[in-house]
Amino acid sequence: MNTRTLTLVVLLILTTLSLSAQRRRSYSRPVSPKLEDLPKRPLDTIPTSDPDTRIILYSNNTWSYFRPSLQKMDSLPVYTDHWDTTSVFAYKDIPYENLPPIVELNLVQDLSGFKAPITGQVFSKYGPRRRRRHNGVDIPLKLGEPIYATFDGKVRYAKYNTGGFGNLVIIRHLNGLETWNAHLSKLNVQVNDYVKAGQVIGFGGSTGRSRGPHLHYEMRYQDQTFDPEFIIDFETGQLKYQTFALEKSFFNIHSRASEILEEDDEYDIPLLTDTEEGDTLASSQDILERIAEAQQKDRQQQNKPAGINSSNAVYHTIRSGDMLGKLAIRYGVTVDQICRLNGINRNTILRIGRRLRIK
Ligand SMILES: [Zn+2]
Repeated sequence: MNTRTLTLVVLLILTTLSLSAQRRRSYSRPVSPKLEDLPKRPLDTIPTSDPDTRIILYSNNTWSYFRPSLQKMDSLPVYTDHWDTTSVFAYKDIPYENLPPIVELNLVQDLSGFKAPITGQVFSKYGPRRRRRHNGVDIPLKLGEPIYATFDGKVRYAKYNTGGFGNLVIIRHLNGLETWNAHLSKLNVQVNDYVKAGQVIGFGGSTGRSRGPHLHYEMRYQDQTFDPEFIIDFETGQLKYQTFALEKSFFNIHSRASEILEEDDEYDIPLLTDTEEGDTLASSQDILERIAEAQQKDRQQQNKPAGINSSNAVYHTIRSGDMLGKLAIRYGVTVDQICRLNGINRNTILRIGRRLRIK
């Protein structure tokens, strides 16, 4: 046996010993590694119904979404310049005077899709309202009704806005247009998310300076508002143009007058009652209570008393389908306040015909 053969034999013996030792260790101390601790190699990609989205399968049995075309978009100036995720206005350094007289907006060729944020009759239009101007349109909805991204885009702002918009989602689209979706009961996206037209970005509500569930919807170009009804037929949910020539004269020169919703979006009780009838989505008591609490918080910020005053007492007679959360929203009070005034608790069964003091 020469030296080389001897070395090989020794190596072989050592390897065998080492392997059996390892096996013994693994038998004596069973381990259950976590999936995420295992080595992760991409194994395969699977197409989805969305041509831009694939699913990547990894060797450790995990998976993730992959959107190659969307990731490329991070380098586009429209999604990096004037990208402010904390303030509603992103173009404060561009004065109205510097805007071009006309902007050609490709609405669908570039953006590959469209869906109206919601369909329904515009209850309050864009334009003059009392002393100020209404910078968007208001469309009544049922609490919890889904709100859709109008076009593909990237979420620039998604949080509770104390200026009166309540839960607000602002999406910037590839052509520079921004769509604002206000008073949502719940958000379904985060800032910097890429969204596709028709994706659910949140759920309709009445948060902020709002007295009744509705969507306050704005279209802005470099912070300047114009009438969304130029572009969308909200009743049919149809897009009116493929390409739209946005003229400077369409803008409200006071678009950026303040960072707050300048007027309360207010509705009369009959409208609210209409949207409640046969409402299957409004049954979530906690959504209702959250909205009532947000309204209460807004009022406190405006130093308006909540109205516990015996000379202005308000009563409500319980009808079929009434719930404390709904009543709280309708009358702009909290569930706790109603409970306190009537010596009941949140779980008290409301007998039809019972008269409750609300304020
Ligand atoms: Zn409004």
